[in-house]
Formats: sequence, C-alpha cells, structure tokens
Amino acid sequence: MNSKLRSLPSVEKLLEDPRLGALAGAYSRPSVAGLVRKELDVTRDRIRQGADAPQFESLVDAVESRAAATLSTWPVRVINATGVIIHTNLGRAPLSQAAAQAAAEAGAGYSDLEISLASGKRGSRYAHISELLSQVTGADAAIVVNNNAAAVMLVLTALGAGKEVVVSRGEAVEIGGGFRIPDVLRQSGATLVEVGTTNRTYARDFEAAAGKNTAAFLKVHASNFKVTGFTAESTLAQMVEVGERHGIPVLHDLGSGALLDTAAYGMATEPMVQQSVSDGAGLAMFSGDKLLGGPQAGIIVGKAELVKLIERHPMARALRVEKITLAALSATLIPYLKGTAPEEIPVWQMISASAESIAERAKNLLDSVDGLTEIAELRDSRSAVGGGSLPGETLPSTVVAVTPPADAESLLAALRSHSPPIIARIEKDDILLDPRTMLPGEDAPVAEALAAAIRA
Ligand SMILES: *Cc1c(COP(=O)(O)O)cnc(C)c1O
Repeated sequence: MNSKLRSLPSVEKLLEDPRLGALAGAYSRPSVAGLVRKELDVTRDRIRQGADAPQFESLVDAVESRAAATLSTWPVRVINATGVIIHTNLGRAPLSQAAAQAAAEAGAGYSDLEISLASGKRGSRYAHISELLSQVTGADAAIVVNNNAAAVMLVLTALGAGKEVVVSRGEAVEIGGGFRIPDVLRQSGATLVEVGTTNRTYARDFEAAAGKNTAAFLKVHASNFKVTGFTAESTLAQMVEVGERHGIPVLHDLGSGALLDTAAYGMATEPMVQQSVSDGAGLAMFSGDKLLGGPQAGIIVGKAELVKLIERHPMARALRVEKITLAALSATLIPYLKGTAPEEIPVWQMISASAESIAERAKNLLDSVDGLTEIAELRDSRSAVGGGSLPGETLPSTVVAVTPPADAESLLAALRSHSPPIIARIEKDDILLDPRTMLPGEDAPVAEALAAAIRA
C-alpha cells in the first residue's frame, strides 16, 4: 500500500502537465494547486481503502473536472422537462425577461435604493415596492423580507412575543423543510393556543379563545395537503368578524400568494391575496417565488399601522432583501397591474399553455430526433403546479415518453450531463419529457440532448 501511495505524483509534477498548466494560466497557479492537493488527498484515502493508484492522465482528468465544477459560477442553468412548474429543487419560479433584466441592471450598478432622487435625501428601501404591492393587492402598505418563512417568523415575533396566538388545530401544520407552525410560534416567543379539532374548527372556537393576552388569530393555508370528508373551517372573514369585536388582528399565511384566479385555469381555488386583504386580514404573508412567479421573497401586506410595527422591529433589518430582489420583484408585479401576467410571467405562461400547443411541441420534439420514434411515443400525462401549491392539482399535458433500450437511470444521467443539463422525470421505467415546463427556445437543446443520449 505504501508503495502505491509513494507512486503518486507530486503537486509540482502534476502542475507541469500541459493541460493543468493551461488551467493555471486561466485561473492562477495557487487555485489550481489547491485543486490538485484536494484530488491527491481523496486519491490517498481511496488507496488506503484498497484502491489501485490511478494513472497520471486520469489524475489530470479528475483535476480538470474539479476545476469545471469549482471554478465556475453556480447554480448552473438547467432545462426543466419534469412538468413540475414550481420545482423547489430547480429553483422554483423562473423570472420573466423583464425581471431578469431588472435584476441584472440593479446588480451591475448603483441605484436609488435608499435615496430620494427628488430631494436628494435619504429614502426608504420599501417605499416603492410598498406602493406597487398596494396597487396590486389593495392593501394599505407592504414590506418584503427574505422568504415567506422569514415573513411568518417576523410577523409572529413582532406581534406575538410574550402573548398568545390562536390557531385552528387543523392549521398547526408543517409546510416542509422543517418549517412547522408550532415550532415557529415557540421560536417567536408567542404561546400557541390551538382551538377546534383537526378536521373541524368554527368561528365560535376563536370567540371562546379571545382574551386579554391574545395578540392575534393566525390562519395558515394548508398549501401542501388536502383534508376531505367531515370538515369545517372557520373562514378568514369569520375570524376577522370575531377579531374586530375583540380588537384582535388576523394574520394570514397564504403560502403561495396567488394574484390570479387559479380556478380560471381549470384548477382548484388557491386563496388570492386580494381576497385576503378585502376580507380584512391585518397582515397577509406569501412567497415571491411560488405562484407570484418572481424572485425568492416573503411579502407582507396589510394594514398600515401593523406594517409599520413590522418595519420597526429589529428582526426586519436582519431579514431585509437587497436591490436585486426588489428590482426583480417590482418588474414581476407590473404585468399584474397591466393585466398581462399570463403572457409575461413564465409560471403563468406555463399554467395557461393550451393542451394543443403542448401536444404540438411534444410531437415536434419526437419527430425532430432521428430514431427517437423507435423507442419513444407521445403519451397523455399531467403536469403539476408543485412548490407546495395546489396539492394534487394537475394540468393535462402531452409528454414524450422514452422507453430506454438500457436502463432509465443511465438515460436520465446522460440528459443531465448535456450542456445545458436536462432534468426529466421517470415513470415506470420510462423517461417522460413534458414541454409545459420547457421555456421558449429550450425545445431545440432538448432535442439535441436526446439525440446525443440515444446515440451513446
Ligand atoms: C411555502 C410556504 C411557506 C414558506 O414560504 P417560503 O417562501 O418557501 O419560505 C410558508 N407557509 C406556507 C403556507 C407555504 O405554503
């Protein structure tokens, strides 16, 4: 074993290789030397576990792959052919052209983020976005933080610490990724008061719980599961009615925060932000990168005095968003004001794409790759909204279903190794490619990737 270890080339020796020399020229000798050391460390561990010493050339290959993976910007742009529109692992909502451009411009230079161009005096980072969100949702005011989890945490901390927050037993839920309403309440310093039962909660349950120490009623949209059968839910409007009589604000965690009516696109109704505001929610919280179709953000809209309380809380400073987010968010909101969101926001373009247009793209994809028809066919399938929105709700789609000659995993891997990588889904040993979630211009690279994968 020691002789195997001794046979490994030195860092210096490897750096003399012409390919690694070129790499060092492109990046710097110390950065490539660092990668070489890492590769040698890993190789020594492998040898100690019984592996053979690698050839010189394969060490060079390995350092080159390390360089490709490490010395490049990340995350890497991929094509989503899974048919899951808001795919958390793939970065949720793709931005509109306008939003991506606004983000790039805000990032590349200085901006009037906290200065008034009219007076030259210090301005508020939130004034513009608050105005825009008021226009779109009907709320008095708004503030934006890192994500909706942060929004919920901030609101409960600012309003509920040291007091009681009343929640329906059916809504003390886990959102995913370890975000559980009871835990968030504990963390915020508020005491959770659960009312009703898992399946049925009435307005009178909130009435009975309202007391001197009640800071708020909390309504949480059960966005990632469905309860059916013998159920009853106290509506937001009913909770607001009870709350108003006791001077208790109602906080509404909407989750996705739809600004358009999902029912108009053949899906279940997702609670809309505008409705929450007009039903009288004190504060409504929702994500920027779910059905809104914008950047990751947690948006808090509601009554002016409550938003002011939130804005002044020290935690708001810790959770604040930067100029790139605000630029992308404002560019995402404008089409909602103009009524052009379904045409301009990618998430809504995908939701509203007609079954015929998707079938046509699937057929073109199938026909455009030599030999593909021998191992693939068009198949009726369903796309999902995803991202914890609209559980179980799907949209009719047509996919290209490939029955791989070898195993499905290696075809998936081949598609992932393409540039740009293609992410597809697997169903009963077949690979499905759903055009619904492929952006305009991505059909051709998917065809190329398929051609290369089936030739291999
Ligand atoms: C998704 C979701 C959250 C968390 O939002 P993020 O933006 O992912 O932090 C909170 N509450 C509900 C109901 C959700 O659906």
